[in-house]
Amino acid sequence: MAEIDLNNERRKGVTDYIRYLEMRIQELEAEITYLRREVNYYKQEIEKLLSTPLIEGVVLEILEDGRAIVKSSTGPNLIVNIAGNVDIEKLRPGTHVALNQRGSTIVEVLPIREDPYVKAMEVIERPNVRYSDVGGLEDQIREIREVVELPLKHPEIFKELGIEPPKGVLLYGPPGCGKTLLAKAVAGESQATFISLVASELAQKFVGEGARIVRELFEFARKKAPSIVLIDEIDAIAARRLDIGTSGEREIHRTLTQLLAELDGFDPLDNVKVIATTNRLDILDPALLRPGRFDRVIEVPLPNLRGRYEIFKIHTRKMKLARDVDLMELARLTEGATGADIKAICTEAGYNAIRSSRRYVVMEDFTKAIRKILGNRYRPYVFGSSREKGVDRQVV
Ligand code: ATP
Repeated sequence: MAEIDLNNERRKGVTDYIRYLEMRIQELEAEITYLRREVNYYKQEIEKLLSTPLIEGVVLEILEDGRAIVKSSTGPNLIVNIAGNVDIEKLRPGTHVALNQRGSTIVEVLPIREDPYVKAMEVIERPNVRYSDVGGLEDQIREIREVVELPLKHPEIFKELGIEPPKGVLLYGPPGCGKTLLAKAVAGESQATFISLVASELAQKFVGEGARIVRELFEFARKKAPSIVLIDEIDAIAARRLDIGTSGEREIHRTLTQLLAELDGFDPLDNVKVIATTNRLDILDPALLRPGRFDRVIEVPLPNLRGRYEIFKIHTRKMKLARDVDLMELARLTEGATGADIKAICTEAGYNAIRSSRRYVVMEDFTKAIRKILGNRYRPYVFGSSREKGVDRQVV
């Protein structure tokens, strides 16, 4: 009996030991998996430390022989091979890529960075500018309503008549006379998204990205339609060229080509309209003005006497004016001033009132402001004397 008990005891002892060993095995296996992971991590870290850095570049062009022209971040444009593992479909002008150390082969396509194009443009969902905020440009407003607002709001009229509205409108004239303001007003009145881009920034700040930014801008405009795309200072990318020798000029040319391709690619009755502005109509590439592109050109000139009066009225709307303030007289005193000058004069007049500890603005605040803002452009007006006689009659 005692012997049987001893045997049972031993068997139980052995079974417990086996169970213990099995648990240990499981624990050790878990530890091995953990340590393998650690080893792999440190191996990768060592590889990273030993690997040579790659060079960042931007694809400018894919050549027919399967190579590519890349603008490298180290400076020159390079003609490089494309490694077998790189999906050539993903390579387009503007794509960011990594080149191997010698800069001879594209080894990786870098993820798209939305940054540059987001930074390059300004988006206002529905600007709250109205035509009543634009002074002295009645003819221009009428024309822009016909060619931008009407097709956006009532494309059916054009379909019924069987005519195509212009895709793009070019506004030209001296700086500060309301081109941008007019574009914002037409977007505001058409309940459209206003997307603007300063072309000179494409040429200076976003080197190598111009064509991609233009492409993505139009993609975005279609998503946000109805929309109005404003390309400010278009002459920076669309000046007539004699030759395109340097790489900077080639880059600008590619940006323009992309813009023309976008304009040619969409239907005039799509609900995207393009407005471009320039101070230099004379230097523009005629390709831009061909039918189906910017085929409506509208001048936004310096305001005449009546225009200046209207602009003073707009910018003094919310100001507390003394009785002696005569807006017509102010318009007379500001011959040659732009809309932007008049806005600055009104603000400065307000400051003059603050400096005199007044809560309202008097005529003298304005005359001082005019002298300050217009400087040597200021010429005291002699009534009935000169250039703007004809316009005077219209107003008085
Ligand atoms: P740029 O060529 O420098 O871009 P622009 O012609 O586009 O100039 P805007 O930016 O529209 O000029 O004008 C600058 C500011 O001047 C406007 O925001 C507005 O406050 C004022 N302004 C200019 N023109 C007018 C106008 N006709 N009526 C009312 N305000 C105006």
